[in-house]
Amino acid sequence: ATPTAVMVATGVGANNGVLIKGGDALERAQKVKYVIFDKTGTLTQGKATVTSAKVFTGLDRGEFLKLVASAEVSSEHPLAKAIVEYARHFHFFDDSSATKDGEKHSKNSTIPEWLFDVSEFTSLPGRGVQCFIDGKRISVGNRKLMIECGIDIPTHVENYVVELEESAKTGILVAFNGKLIGVLGVADPLKREAAVVVEGLGKMGVRPVMVTGDNWRTARAVAKEVGIQDVQAEVMPAGKADVVRSFQRDGSVVAMVGDGINDSPALAAADVGMAIGAGTDIAIEAADYVLMRNNLEDVITAIDLSRKTFSRIR
Ligand code: ADP
Ligand code: MG
Repeated sequence: ATPTAVMVATGVGANNGVLIKGGDALERAQKVKYVIFDKTGTLTQGKATVTSAKVFTGLDRGEFLKLVASAEVSSEHPLAKAIVEYARHFHFFDDSSATKDGEKHSKNSTIPEWLFDVSEFTSLPGRGVQCFIDGKRISVGNRKLMIECGIDIPTHVENYVVELEESAKTGILVAFNGKLIGVLGVADPLKREAAVVVEGLGKMGVRPVMVTGDNWRTARAVAKEVGIQDVQAEVMPAGKADVVRSFQRDGSVVAMVGDGINDSPALAAADVGMAIGAGTDIAIEAADYVLMRNNLEDVITAIDLSRKTFSRIR
């Protein structure tokens, strides 16, 4: 393609909200064989909502949610935001809990005075959060975190988590003072166009893959819903780039589509990194393409544009 053709294509991309960082990136996209999608916030809307909260001890429901939200309020994770939002709603709008403590109820307060004071907050990427409330340790996260903390998961709790995961939800386990006290179910719906894009890529001879830090059972349920056969789950944040490299091993050109901080090494490692425009700045910086409309159809637009631009000279 002539420099003019590249310039024109870059302009066409920009008009469609596909920002391309340079002619090399534009050229590489035509040869893409695998498109690896991050799950949370890329294939899914990234708008997690709590769909259930089960308390396994005699603890009051409001008290349970207050404990969990206090631990999660310092986390930036979408799951944490969903949990805090759910607890906030319960605290302020559930009649049984709204009146029984003497706190000030300012609905729009950014300083959550309705929560417990916590100390020693630690965020454990790919696993959850941990801190202390009243000198007692609270851990909120996945099985891996519970195992690390030496928390026993009773069979009835495990069964409940499995039930959530089989319906494509993520089970968040909560341990307080050495005991498992409850589980939250969180759902994050697929983007409306996700399944159509997956199908479209297949028709173009491109193989879609899903990669996620979430557990295998939830990952498989989501992959099935969207029509992806190739899944890599329980991948630690640093591991996504290794997944990209494993697909590159036979010389295949690999695209990675992601939105999060933990996707940026994989976006950089990919031959074609595509960041969701609504994603974090670090992901956008690491990518070759930015999909400004946050619409997965633009993955196809980008590959098409490259194919059309570079087929003219063949
Ligand atoms: P993803 O690739 O889906 O963005 P992450 O690596 O961010 O996944 O997280 C993987 C898993 O770790 C989550 O599915 C969840 O089980 C657990 N996790 C991470 N952060 C939190 C948190 N703040 N609260 C609870 N669980 C968390
Ligand atoms: Mg993500």
